[in-house]
Amino acid sequence: MCVRGRFTLVKVVASVLVIAASLGIAARAETAGVEQVPRRVLILFPFDQRLPSVNIVGEAVTKQLRQSSSPKIGVFSDYLDLSRFEGETYRNQIAAFLAQKYRTTQLDVVVALGPPALDFIRDFREQIGPGAKIVFGLVSNPAPNSSSDIVGIRSEFDLGKTLKLAQLLQPDARRIVVVNGVSDFDKTWETKARELLAPLAGRYETTYLSGMTVDDMLKTVSDLNEDAIILLLTVYRDTTGRSFVPVEVAQQIVEAAGAPSYSPYDSAIGLGAVGGYTETFEAVGASLGKLALDVLAGKPDALEDRLNETLSYRVDARQLKRWNLVGSNLPPGTIVLYDEKTVWEEYGYFIAAAAAVIVLQSVLLGALYIQGARRRRTEAALKESELQSETQRREIAHMSRVLILGELTGAIAHELNQPLTAILANAEAALMLLDRKAPDIEEAIAALSDIVENDNRASKVIQRLRGLLKKDEGRWELIDVNDVVRSTQALVHSELVNRAISTKVELADEISPVSGDPIQLQQVTLNLVMNAMDAVASVDPARREIIVSTRVAANGSVEVAVSDNGSGIPPSDQSRLFQPFFTTKAHGLGLGLSICSKILSSHGGKLSLVSKEEGGALASFSLPPAAVLAAAQ
Ligand code: ADP
Repeated sequence: MCVRGRFTLVKVVASVLVIAASLGIAARAETAGVEQVPRRVLILFPFDQRLPSVNIVGEAVTKQLRQSSSPKIGVFSDYLDLSRFEGETYRNQIAAFLAQKYRTTQLDVVVALGPPALDFIRDFREQIGPGAKIVFGLVSNPAPNSSSDIVGIRSEFDLGKTLKLAQLLQPDARRIVVVNGVSDFDKTWETKARELLAPLAGRYETTYLSGMTVDDMLKTVSDLNEDAIILLLTVYRDTTGRSFVPVEVAQQIVEAAGAPSYSPYDSAIGLGAVGGYTETFEAVGASLGKLALDVLAGKPDALEDRLNETLSYRVDARQLKRWNLVGSNLPPGTIVLYDEKTVWEEYGYFIAAAAAVIVLQSVLLGALYIQGARRRRTEAALKESELQSETQRREIAHMSRVLILGELTGAIAHELNQPLTAILANAEAALMLLDRKAPDIEEAIAALSDIVENDNRASKVIQRLRGLLKKDEGRWELIDVNDVVRSTQALVHSELVNRAISTKVELADEISPVSGDPIQLQQVTLNLVMNAMDAVASVDPARREIIVSTRVAANGSVEVAVSDNGSGIPPSDQSRLFQPFFTTKAHGLGLGLSICSKILSSHGGKLSLVSKEEGGALASFSLPPAAVLAAAQ
């Protein structure tokens, strides 16, 4: 049996592969019944090819369509250039051109990106793609459907929510400056902004920059100070008649601005805007591509508009810092991007924990050093008394555990980091799922259950550590040695992975409980596994192997064995292994085995460490079952 530890990454990758494989099978099964005639999809871009945002959507749609191997889909694209060229004559001319172009090419679906492209194809569908279904995206308020073969993913581009974000972050702001141009599309934004801001006239002094050249816009925003909010909309054209790529204007504005900017477009976040209520363009494109495939496959539920589900408040952590905006004012579920924490912020807890262990270790080693003079005496005394004083034995056992844990600091930090990262990801997902218009309660419950599970996982790691770090009080109870092995395995799992050691855990199905101190027995198991890890260090990494097993021996006693394929025990060392301070390691203390041996004898058990014929060593201990021990006492 393989390690039962949590190979989380492996598990995640495996599940992704399984899901991907099953999706693949499902997709093939669904399309199996579909006619294998080639299909044709035209993607209509509203403006020219310089717009990164729309291009990202187009590319994501194309990628989705090309991924479908059955039926084969031909993908065509045309740029309507409706921001630089406006008016009915131009629209008619371009429609006539496209009608001619696709005269002999029967289009099945036209994907229209943005309102201008949707309006265009609605007006000219009969000429360009008679019979083609229309799938639209990047449109927030499509005109009511005249026919059921026009469907799409609605984008919200919610300026109200973007403004709400700005208000939460800048509650004292008194000015709002709206950056937008004068193309038809720019003006639709201005209309929305005016509707939104008119009722707030008493609270904010509002300026619209649409009447200016881009140069004047830059000058105006650079004169602002931090009591202003800049709402970044689109500038496809300014008053000089020059056409622009809005994202390029947005970049210049945020660079020049003396006040924080907000935008309903994802593309502005990352350039320097503080944030907005946005969707990612990749996600819009991927959903649109899937919808187009559903429409091609004739799925009835495809014929319904959908709302893009990736809408969320998004902010750029760097800009929050730059403008001194307080993160605690963010609406719940806000996605914080570019959160480049300092090493201390990110790993502070672990650095502190590691530092604490190192300090502790140094103190202990220091103490050992100071006691160097007394060592010989102590050694002799130890040998003589065979650590018979219970208190002395416990003190030394405790010190030895602390030292072992010191060696495991890195691995333990890793063990803790995994559930903490999973908790954060699930919490963010749950907030997003609940923050939707139609909250996905089921998915949110699943995310919350994951949080509970990971929290338990993290607290188990802490419990194990606390158990081993505290001085044991001689707690005596019924113990399942399989549990002891499992929790030891969980503690060393990351260290084993780090050291490229493959591990097998073979646990007896039914095992009688033993009576004893769980912390002490875990210490013994941990010590034997750590010794085995050291022993296989000299072996080629591909061959390093440790097997931890439990079994019930013929006489009924319970056995735990740790077998390795390391260096084995030289015959000359065999008799000295359990003597205090016998070590062959450069940094060894030589106390582990003697302590383990004492612990076991106080449990009525026995420790053994021998070389195996095939090479390597076998460390094992046996304990009488609880019932036998009780009868003997
Ligand atoms: P330490 O690990 O500090 O040396 P221990 O008492 O745990 O102290 O071990 C004493 C010695 O026993 C080790 O230095 C090593 O030489 C030997 N030993 C223990 N376990 C093994 C093993 N699995 N394979 C080979 N040698 C071992």
